[in-house]
Amino acid sequence: MSQKAKKEEAPAPEPKTEAPKPQKAEKPKAEKKKKEEKRTFTLYEIEGEKAVRLRPTCERCGPGYFMADHHDRFTCGHCGFTRYKRT
Ligand SMILES: [Zn+2]
Repeated sequence: MSQKAKKEEAPAPEPKTEAPKPQKAEKPKAEKKKKEEKRTFTLYEIEGEKAVRLRPTCERCGPGYFMADHHDRFTCGHCGFTRYKRT
């Protein structure tokens, strides 16, 4: 009787190398920048008791439609009317 003890080398259990899952790093909430809104009153300037319009109004659209002030012209964003400034 020869007992061959089979040495079964059990594979060493792999060391658990559970890398810690990278936790979702919470992004620090960026501070909300205050939006600088163009308000209607930027188009007016109070002079005494009068409100003076700083922009011309569109000739086509009538009063109430201000024209954008460019360095050499005024344009209406509503109808596209352009009026060049006289120098
Ligand atoms: Zn217009």
